[in-house]
Amino acid sequence: MSSVESKLSNAGTTIFTVMSALAAKHRAINLSQGFPDFDPPQALIERVAHHLGTGSNQYPPMPGVPELREAIAAKLRALYDVHVDPESEITVTSGATTALFCAVQALVRGGDEVIVFDPAYDSYEPAVTLAGGRTVHVPLKAPAFSIDFDRLQASLCDRTRLVILNSPHNPTGALIDAADLDRLAAMLRPFGCFVLSDEVYEHIVFDGEPHATVLAHPELAERSLAVFSFGKTYHATGWKVGYCVAPRGLSQEFRRVHQYVTFATVAPIQHALADYLSGHPEHHLGLPEFYADKRDHFLRLLDRSRFRVTPSRGTYFQLADYSEISDLPDVEFSRRLTMEHGVAVIPISVFYESAPADRFVRFCFAKQAATLEQAALRLAGL
Ligand code: PMP
Ligand code: GLN
Repeated sequence: MSSVESKLSNAGTTIFTVMSALAAKHRAINLSQGFPDFDPPQALIERVAHHLGTGSNQYPPMPGVPELREAIAAKLRALYDVHVDPESEITVTSGATTALFCAVQALVRGGDEVIVFDPAYDSYEPAVTLAGGRTVHVPLKAPAFSIDFDRLQASLCDRTRLVILNSPHNPTGALIDAADLDRLAAMLRPFGCFVLSDEVYEHIVFDGEPHATVLAHPELAERSLAVFSFGKTYHATGWKVGYCVAPRGLSQEFRRVHQYVTFATVAPIQHALADYLSGHPEHHLGLPEFYADKRDHFLRLLDRSRFRVTPSRGTYFQLADYSEISDLPDVEFSRRLTMEHGVAVIPISVFYESAPADRFVRFCFAKQAATLEQAALRLAGL
């Protein structure tokens, strides 16, 4: 057979793969795809080595190793005063991506509508399409990239099955706060829809602001699945371990799908994370300061350039307006920046159904100071 009718005909290669490949080809400093250029804590790596060497190499339980689920439950209690049953309400997955995918497959039926906020992380829509649903795009409101509640209200209807939230928000660095969650809960009250809350950057929130998790909102929590990623928290994006927290009934449906997607998640790393999470709470508690220092350093360096920024409130990403530098559309600007000036970034129009005329690119500042300084030297010349 020469060709296959695609189930994802609108999807090309992800922008993260495209830009990282272009960066490698042109030996550019890669501030595009989001990943740290430093290692996980040494003590955590030692725990992985320990468990690899002591017989944790066969299938773990489908929902995750009990010690890790206990440690996650303890963290949710300590941090957010959220009480969940690790046995029936936490499922460990192979990265947040798998959790998001399983959640969408578990809930979305043919003809259902799913609301996402643009710019939207790129894995949401393909998951909805494969489930036979239709994605309804509601743009966030510039310049703060806050939820446009009027547009949301106008988009909700009886076909709405799911609303996908993301806070701290990739790619804008915006946050949803507790008042937003109250308003959302009131707006969703007449509808029977669910919420899928992508909170993978929960620990990377700046300037003393708290992370507002849907799990701590009693009304929303009843209809929500929340998704997290150890990749972000432990500087280990390549390990691909995350988890989904949801009430028992929703977790049951989630697990029904998950058992046939990957069944279970890499065992020795789960054991190592269980040890480290309970033994080293100072790691995640220190992340706001750790990443705020990087953000502030990068912003001071960008002061010497013609990029214009509003400081990110969370995540390890910074949007920058390049309109003083170029009139090119962001995809072309990002390519040229990579190929001709040696700094790779992510254009954000690709995360929109219909992109606005703004000129923004996204920098990842999860990098060593020297990497950011070298990149800034190149950016200052533009
Ligand atoms: N959601 C968002 C908003 C992300 O930025 C990422 C990280 N790439 C993911 C989900 C996926 O996380 P993971 O690498 O754990 O699959
Ligand atoms: N989440 C990462 C980012 O936003 C990339 C993940 C991926 O490459 N799929 O850059």
